[in-house]
Amino acid sequence: MRYISTRGNAPALNFEDVLLAGLASDGGLYVPENLPRFTQEEIASWAGLPYHELAFRVMRPFVEGSISDTDFKQILEETYGAFAHSAIAPLRQLNANEWVMELFHGPTLAFKDFALQLLGRLLDHILLKRGERVVIIGATSGDTGSAAIEGCRRCENVDIFILHPHQRVSEVQRRQMTTILGENIHNIAIEGNFDDCQEMVKASFADQSFLKGTRLVAVNSINWARIMAQIVYYFHAALQLGAPARSVAFSVPTGNFGDIFAGYLARNMGLPVSQLVVATNRNDILHRFMSGNQYFKETLHASLSPSMDIMVSSNFERLLFDLHGRNGVALAELMSTFKATGKLSVEEDRWVEARKLFDSLAVSDEDTCATIADVFKRTGEVLDPHTAIGVKAARECRRNLSTPMVVLGTAHPVKFPDAVEKAGIGKALELPAHLSDLFQREERCTVLPNAIEAVQAFVAQHGNRGKPL
Ligand SMILES: *Cc1c(COP(=O)(O)O)cnc(C)c1O
Repeated sequence: MRYISTRGNAPALNFEDVLLAGLASDGGLYVPENLPRFTQEEIASWAGLPYHELAFRVMRPFVEGSISDTDFKQILEETYGAFAHSAIAPLRQLNANEWVMELFHGPTLAFKDFALQLLGRLLDHILLKRGERVVIIGATSGDTGSAAIEGCRRCENVDIFILHPHQRVSEVQRRQMTTILGENIHNIAIEGNFDDCQEMVKASFADQSFLKGTRLVAVNSINWARIMAQIVYYFHAALQLGAPARSVAFSVPTGNFGDIFAGYLARNMGLPVSQLVVATNRNDILHRFMSGNQYFKETLHASLSPSMDIMVSSNFERLLFDLHGRNGVALAELMSTFKATGKLSVEEDRWVEARKLFDSLAVSDEDTCATIADVFKRTGEVLDPHTAIGVKAARECRRNLSTPMVVLGTAHPVKFPDAVEKAGIGKALELPAHLSDLFQREERCTVLPNAIEAVQAFVAQHGNRGKPL
């Protein structure tokens, strides 16, 4: 499989190189040159497969030429063997023809484990083969950091540095990062906010001289391997609900358009997905596009669903690329307009095309809490605030009551106790068994000033399993 840039002016890469790449050299994002397409018979024959075997069939075309079948099978079995629920992504029925797909049974209790557990193992496999080491530098406001650290903790050839804003992440989220100890794991608390952290990561990608030749790898959702891993659970859920004989709809709590883009790809690969609901909080740039063809930056608002607090959606460019007939030149132009003016819209017929599949809703904090309370009252299930937004949007946007609607349950409610409490749920939530001693574990973290020189010096000093690069 070859991968091309959405802006049409960077070299095509194979899977191995795309795994190690961040943005393409022309500023675009990598996408498969040709998406694999499965027949209905082929998809039907996968019903009942264990998760890792289904994952092998769905993802095999993407890694072909870079990883052998035997190795890939083993990597997948290990990856999903680390999940706490034997169904990996169980469906829980909330209502008539309405389900939540629980994607929070991985080590850090959010859906990001599906991709980052795999990413760590893929990196290790490929780096060992090439005899290379890499450094990962990432910024987090919560879920990504712990999932990335958990995913890379056993990697022989990766040193990972995760920046979080000092005293501005919840205690559960901080401890999920800082209690994972290892000579290749480095938590840095920056005396600044999340944007400061993100800016330092961006600047480090732009000028890598401080790394003395060691390659820098991205773990945010612009990394193609993350999107790829997320395609699998759409197939998994739909097969259980009668696909491919029957169509299925999905509602996806989204910020950077990564998770929902995976659903869009599943459909283009042959899965009968009849509707995708874009569910946002009040940071609703995606809802503004889907409802009115207006994609523009606004100020950031802190919400009860912090993992979706974004101003622009980094993966949206991948959808725009398809909407423009995969014309890289047209897309480069569109994105440079966006860069200059902070806004874009597309030609009417392209927007109409998108609306055939996508609907959207922006959900307030108030409605998020009301949904958590309502679902709890009727079913006894406690939803996390992100998942609650997905449920609310599914209920408002649903086109057809006889089509199964699956809401992606993106996080375990125990990660977001404030929202659960605000929703008036008296029940105390317990950490799952593998995290039950989280508050007794030793923490390791370095506090650094809000200065890129200090961060880069720290990385250079510790980037080789705790030793200088
Ligand atoms: C990251 C995250 C999201 C948003 O996912 P995108 O791929 O950025 O759309 C939603 N919910 C939770 C709990 C997350 O951690």
